Amino acid sequence: MSFDVKKIREDFPILQREIYNKPLVYFDNAATTQKPRQVIEAMEHVYSRINSNIHRGVHFLSDRCTEEFERSREMVAGFINAAHSHEVIFTAGTTASINLAAFSFGETFVGEGDEIIVSAMEHHSNLVPWQMLCGRKKAKLKIIPLNEKGELLVEEFEKLISARTKLVTLSHVSNAIGTRHPVEKVIELAHKKDIPVLIDGAQSIQHEVIDVQKMDADFFVFSGHKVYGPTGIGVFYGKEKWLEKMMPYQGGGEMISRVTLEKTSYNRLPFKFEAGTPNYVGAIGLAAALQYLRETGMENIIAYERELTDYGVSKLSEIDNLRLVGTPRERTSVLSFLIDDIHPYDAGMVIDKMGVAVRTGNHCAEPLMDFFKIRGTIRASVVFYNTKKEIDILCDAIEKVKQMFY
Ligand code: PMP
Repeated sequence: MSFDVKKIREDFPILQREIYNKPLVYFDNAATTQKPRQVIEAMEHVYSRINSNIHRGVHFLSDRCTEEFERSREMVAGFINAAHSHEVIFTAGTTASINLAAFSFGETFVGEGDEIIVSAMEHHSNLVPWQMLCGRKKAKLKIIPLNEKGELLVEEFEKLISARTKLVTLSHVSNAIGTRHPVEKVIELAHKKDIPVLIDGAQSIQHEVIDVQKMDADFFVFSGHKVYGPTGIGVFYGKEKWLEKMMPYQGGGEMISRVTLEKTSYNRLPFKFEAGTPNYVGAIGLAAALQYLRETGMENIIAYERELTDYGVSKLSEIDNLRLVGTPRERTSVLSFLIDDIHPYDAGMVIDKMGVAVRTGNHCAEPLMDFFKIRGTIRASVVFYNTKKEIDILCDAIEKVKQMFY
C-alpha cells in the first residue's frame, strides 16, 4: 500500500481524542466524515486573512475572496471532470441540490401525467422532494424494485420507462446498506429514450473516481461534509444544456442580471442558481478537502477502502447470530447489520461505551427498512483513515453486546 494510514490519521485532529478513556473508533463516516487539518486551516485562513463578501466588491479582500471561491469551483469541476466550471453550482448540500433539481427541473419540464422514476432504496432526500413535485404537478412517481440481496432490478427498471418519463433519479451508493448501483447501465438505458438521469453521489464521491462526462450523468449531486469538507456546502452539477433551460430555484441577489420593479432578467450560469451570498468559506474548505484527496491519491484510497470493507464483511460474517443486511455483489464501504433480535439502538449504546461510533436506526431510508421488514440496523461505514485493528475493536464490542443482552 503506497500510503501510510498512521500518517494520514495524524492529519485528522479529532482522531487523536479519546472517548470514555478509550481511543475513538469512528465508524459513522456515511453520516459525516472527519476533517483533516488542511481543511480546517483553509477555512481559518479565509476568516483570519481574506474574509469579505464576494463578487460585488472592488476592494482587495473581496477580490481575493472571490478569486479563491471561483478557484474552488474550478477545483470541484476538475475533481468530477465537468466539461465547464459553470456547470458546478454551489448549494448547502445534497438535500439542497436535490430540492433545487426537483423544483427547477420540475417547474420547467414536468406536467400533469408525467412520470419520474426513482429507486426503492433512496435516502429520504432523494424521494421526498420528488413526491412533493409529483403532488404539485399531478405527476406520477414510479419505483424501481429490488431483490433480497438489496440490489436494484435493472430489467424491471427498463419496463418502467414510458413516453411520459421525464427523469430518472437514483443514488450511486446506498447509504443504508452500501449497494453500489449500476448507474452506468441505468443512464445508458434512459438515454436511449432521451431521458435525463440524476445521480445522488452523497455516498460515492468519497469512495470512487467520479467522471461525470464518462458516466454521462445529466445531474450529479453531493455534500461537502461527506467528502472530508465542511458542513453547509454541497454541489449541484448539471449539464449546461439542461441548466440553460431550467428556471431558477430561488430569487435574490447574485442570480440577476437586471432588475426593474416590474421584471427581472437572470444572470448567466452558474450564478442563475446561486441566489444570495454563497457559502464561500465552505466552498474554499471543500476545495481543500478535494485537494487533500488528490494528494493522497484516489487510487490508493479506493484500494485501501476495498481491503478494509472486505475485511469487515469477512470478520462480521464470522460472528454467530449476526446478520448482514444487504449482501450486494457490489458494495461500497457500508456494513449494515443486526445482532440476533437485539434492538439496534440498545446495541449501539453498548458499542458506544467501547469508544466506537456507529449509527443505528433506519438511516433515512424507511421504505428500504420496510422492504426488509426491520425497524433499522447498526451501521459501520469505513473510510481510508480507519484500520483493520479498529474493525477488530468493533467485533469485540459486538461480543460485549451479546454478553450484555443474552
Ligand atoms: N443521499 C444520500 C445517499 C445520503 O447518504 C445522504 C446523507 N446521509 C443524503 C442524500 C443527504 O445528505 P445531506 O444531509 O448532506 O444533505
